[in-house]
Formats: sequence, structure tokens, C-alpha cells
Amino acid sequence: MKNASAVYDSDIKFIKGVGEKRAKLLNKLGIENLYDVLHFFPRKYADFSSAVKIADVKVDEVNCIHVTVCTPAEENFIRKGMTIFKLKAMDETGLINIVIFNNKYMADSLSAGGEFFIIGKVTEDYHAFQISPQTVQPFREDLFYSPVYPSTAGLNSFAIERIMKNALSIYKSENLPDPIPDEVRTRNRLCHEQYAVEAIHFPKNENDIDISRKRFIFEELFFLQCGMLAVKQRVKKQSAIPIKKRFDGEFVSSLPYTLTNAQKRVIDECLFDMGGNVPMNRLLQGDVGSGKTVVAATLMHTAVKNGRQCALMAPTEILAAQHFETLSSLMPREITISLLTGATKKREKDRIKAALVSGEIDILVGTHAVITDDTLFSDLGLIIIDEQHRFGVRQRSALSVKGKDPHVLVMSATPIPRTLSLIIYGELDVSIIDEMPHGKKSVRTYCVDSTYEKRVYDFIKKNLDSGKQAYIVCPLVEENEENELTAAKKLFEELEKNVFSSYSVGLLHGKMKSKEKEKVMNGFADGSINLLVSTTVIEVGIDVKNATIMLIRDADRFGLSQLHQLRGRIGRGGDESHCILMTDNKSESVRDRMKLMCSTLDGFILADEDLKNRGPGEFLGSRQSGLPSLKIASFADDLETVRIAAREAQRVFRTDPKLIDPKNAALRDAVKRMFDKNNSVVFN
Ligand code: ADP
Ligand code: MG
Repeated sequence: MKNASAVYDSDIKFIKGVGEKRAKLLNKLGIENLYDVLHFFPRKYADFSSAVKIADVKVDEVNCIHVTVCTPAEENFIRKGMTIFKLKAMDETGLINIVIFNNKYMADSLSAGGEFFIIGKVTEDYHAFQISPQTVQPFREDLFYSPVYPSTAGLNSFAIERIMKNALSIYKSENLPDPIPDEVRTRNRLCHEQYAVEAIHFPKNENDIDISRKRFIFEELFFLQCGMLAVKQRVKKQSAIPIKKRFDGEFVSSLPYTLTNAQKRVIDECLFDMGGNVPMNRLLQGDVGSGKTVVAATLMHTAVKNGRQCALMAPTEILAAQHFETLSSLMPREITISLLTGATKKREKDRIKAALVSGEIDILVGTHAVITDDTLFSDLGLIIIDEQHRFGVRQRSALSVKGKDPHVLVMSATPIPRTLSLIIYGELDVSIIDEMPHGKKSVRTYCVDSTYEKRVYDFIKKNLDSGKQAYIVCPLVEENEENELTAAKKLFEELEKNVFSSYSVGLLHGKMKSKEKEKVMNGFADGSINLLVSTTVIEVGIDVKNATIMLIRDADRFGLSQLHQLRGRIGRGGDESHCILMTDNKSESVRDRMKLMCSTLDGFILADEDLKNRGPGEFLGSRQSGLPSLKIASFADDLETVRIAAREAQRVFRTDPKLIDPKNAALRDAVKRMFDKNNSVVFN
């Protein structure tokens, strides 16, 4: 058999019907090579089984007809960029006009005298029926379905279908091996790739659609799992210097509080890992306020006492600064801590870098700058990454090349559905803090519409008067950052001038200079700012115990997990707190989501719901998660397949951990291809 890679990787320009221009359009759809073309799946299928006679068409609806074309296409230039093709067709019950806009391919394919299925919207014009085809197919007795592809401007489904046929004929002439190993395929009753590829594009019947979909869904999740296992394998292979001597007792007794049992347990789990010569690669999950920071501090203290250096990374400058403060207050004086962020002045940066190399600095706290800069440590032993879901697989692997394979702990407050975490964190071990230091938080949540604005403001004032603090959060949607930004700004200006003129109001958003942000945050932390108007920059990690009210405007725009994160900013001091969700969106799904927010404080329940409604993007963040995007499988709908695929992948890796067995060659290629597309390295 041929080397699958070479065939699959061949440029789309070699497919008949794809020239420069089309290649560009296809690229826009993420299609670069033959493999991509074949894995560009139909969005749905046109169903010809419902064809009606011309006399029976329903006007102003989409109909399927089976007709004979009786005239060649007549081309009419309307204006630049607009050509209409007109044809006539008939069946034994009548005549119909076919009108095609700007689609010469389609018009040419309707040869006079030929019989076709046509699906399209039918209108009536001067007592004549007219159809604008969405799909046309030469009539065949045994044809029931044809694919409908997601189209892009300049490239419609019809054109893609023609390209697909040509791609398929190249594929079929090559007789490529199936990337799913035979035994896995047999055990799970999956059809062979060669069958599936043809069946998913050009199914002969409904069963073809079912079995090909089943196979590709499995395949996608299986490759994904294999990729994650490969990453894990790679990490495990490295060797670390064990951090053996334990000093945590000494540190823990110096703390202003007693650790919870959950905190003690996860510290033990981490120290056990760190004591070994395989680098720790662990995820620490714990709800907001569960006390992850002190766990990190304990581990870092131990590492430093063992003579090693540590780095603590946070996603924002505010958080980095806050961690710096916290650590400075917790650590004994002989431990040297420095803060390095994008805002650090050049001279200070240079000083820090020199001190890192010479080993004078024990703990470096910082933002991304820590890894993007050519920061050098003399002996980096432990890296802790806070709010992990904001860092992708890629950034993580960039980190672990810094030191001599340091131990890595990533911390996240985002509860992630179990099946999803199986995949995302497939390469990590997981520890969970399932206990809150102050017992259950008491945050009441309400949902109101904007007619309640005045009452809500009065309620906020009442609380501010009693010495408490409040947040007002405005959504900041990525696509339209500028507009949303002005929304927060405008609201701030309005509130400061009118409703809350007798209070001190602060504004916080992501576009502010870090000095300004810091000033506002400090003001809120020391109580000189009563009310903070903010975008979601406060989402992660901000810790002001005196804040007891949060108003979230346009709450429907947020995912439940995000709302949960935001809500976690209040109720941190144990005082009764209130979260008010404001939205004018009365749709049923929004109402249901808000109801759930009001009824539970369990992040995992909310996470599951988010996965169902909004998909995994909610948890994986943007593409930077480093995970390939799914084309056909769905984390929410295919949970069972996720589990099975995980088991099967583990089975393969048990006997062939590097996928070097020749019988797994096609699998290795497929996994590599999937992750390469995302610039994530799985094998090295
Ligand atoms: P998160 O897990 O959200 O990062 P933090 O580490 O910021 O939580 O901790 C939340 C708050 O709880 C902090 O103010 C911290 O000082 C406090 N805290 C942490 N552990 C304990 C504990 N065992 N007992 C009492 N308070 C604690
Ligand atoms: Mg935190």
C-alpha cells in the first residue's frame, strides 16, 4: 500500500477543478490538501425521495422535482458581477422555468435533454412556475441523497460537490490503509475508511449516512485522544531533579489559618510527584475561593528550601501583582520574590533577569512575559500556572523547555465537565480541592430585567452605605471590543455623574495601562473605591473580601461558567452576598440558564449545562487551547464515544506508546496531521 501521508498532503491545486482562485476560497474554509477536502463533511443531505410533480409543487416553498431539461441555458448579463441563467424543464404534468444566479457550473451541468433532480424554492410568476435551484443532480433510479456543504462566498455547495467527486476519485485510486487499527475498528463495529469516505459524501441510503458518521465521529475523538496521550508520553519521558526534602510543616504552621483537609491532600499529592524524577505535570482544580494560592505557596516554599527556583504565572497583570503581594506576606523574609510583567520597566527587567541567572531570586511571579522573554533561571525547579484554561497546550510545552524539565502545576477555577477534562487534560494528572475554607459560600442570585434598574441601584447604595463594596460588570464581547468598551466607560461616566455621584466609583477594563489598572484595583482593595464598574477583567482571581454585591448587565451574553467565575468574586469574606443578573432577553433558553444560575452554586453542574448549550469553546477558550477543533464530533452529544475512544486510545498506547509499530503508521500520521494543523507538536 502507498504512503498515505504523501497522497493526503498533496495540494488541493492538483485536484481537477481547483485552480488558484478556488484554492484560495477553499483555504478560507481551512482546506489545504486532499485530506482536508475529503474531511470537509456535508452539512446535511438533499433528499430526493420526496420529489413531486410540477403540478403539485408548493409555491414559495422549497420543493424537490424530477424533470427533463428542454432548453440549453440562456445566459443574461444583468450587470457586472451578476449573470442569470435561464432554462426550461418539464415533466408529464407541466413546465417550469429554472433560474440560476451567478452559477455557471450549475447551469452548464443541466444539459438539454437530461433528466435531473432539482431542489429549490419555487415561485409563481405570470402563471408560470419558476425554481431557483439549491441542488441539482442527474437523475438516477437509485439516488436518494446528495450532499449539501457549508459554502463560502464564491464557492457554493454545488461547486464543492464537483471538487469532492474529483478528490474522491484520486483517493479511491490509491487504496490507502485505514488509520484506525483493524482490531479497534472491528471491536467497535466501524466501517473501513475507504467505505466511509465515499459514503459520507455520496450516501446511497440512510444507513450509509449513519455508519459513515459514526465512524468519523469515533475517528475524530480517537485521534484526539491519541494526540493527548502522545503529549503525555513525551512529558513523562523527561527527567526532573527530585525535590525530596519536605519543609511544608514548618511553612504551614506559620500561616494565619489552618489548611483545609482538601488543601492538605492536594499538597501531599503534589509533593509526592515532585519527589520523583519524572517531572510533575498536574492540574489543580478548585472552585474560586477554595484556596489554591496557599497550596502553590507551600509547594514553592518547599522547592526554594531545596535550593531550587520557582516561577508563578498568571494570565493578567492584576493577578500577577496580587499573587506577588500574597506571596510576599506569606513567605519568610529570607526568600526573595520578584514581579515581572509586561509593565515592568526595562531597567528593572534587566536587573531581575540578571538576578535570576545568578540565582539571587528564588521566586519569580509574572505574566506571559515570563515565558515570552528570554528569561533565564539558574535552576528552575517548579512552575505554577494560575488559571490554566487561559494557557494553551502550546504555551505549556514552551514553558517546560525552560529549566531542566521542571515540575509543573497548573491551577484552574473553571470546573470542567469530566469527559471534557479527560480530553483537554489527557496529558495531566488531576487534583481537586473540593472543600471551601469558610464552609459553603452564601451568595444569593437573582435575575431581573432592566426595569428593575432603579431598585437594584437603591439596593447597591444601601449596601455601600453600610460599608460594603460592589461590582457592576458589563460584557465585553470579543468581536466588538471597542463598542463594548465604550459601554463600560459610558456606564461608568453616567453612574459617577448621576446615580452614584456621592460615592467613589472606579472603572476597570482590559485596555487600561497596567499602572492605571493597578491604581484602581488597589483603590478597590483598600476600600477607597466603593463601586467598581468593570468588564470581565475581574473574572479571574481578584480577591476583595468586603465586596458583597455584583450586578451583571446583559447577563445572557455570558456562559454559565463565566457567570459562575464572576460570581465567585463576591461572598469571599463569608458575609451574605448578592449576585444580580440583569437581562432583557426573554427567550426560553436564556430564562432556563438564568434559573439554573439562581438555583445552584455548583460549578460542575453549570459546566455540564454550558457544554450542552454552548459547546466546548466555553472551556477551551480560543484556538490557543492548542486543541484541534472538531469537525464532526461533539463533546456534548458524543460523551459515550468520548469514553470509548479514550479507552481504545489507551489500549493502543499500552503496547505501542510511541506509535512506532508499522501497523500503527497510518494512525500516527493521522494524529500528527490533526495536531499539526493546529501547530501543536505531539511527537518529537
Ligand atoms: P482561589 O482558589 O480562588 O485562588 P485563594 O487562594 O485566592 O482562592 O483563596 C481565597 C481566600 O481564602 C484567600 O483570601 C485566602 O487567604 C483564604 N484561605 C485560603 N485557605 C484558607 C484556609 N485554609 N482557611 C482560611 N482561609 C483560607
Ligand atoms: Mg486564585
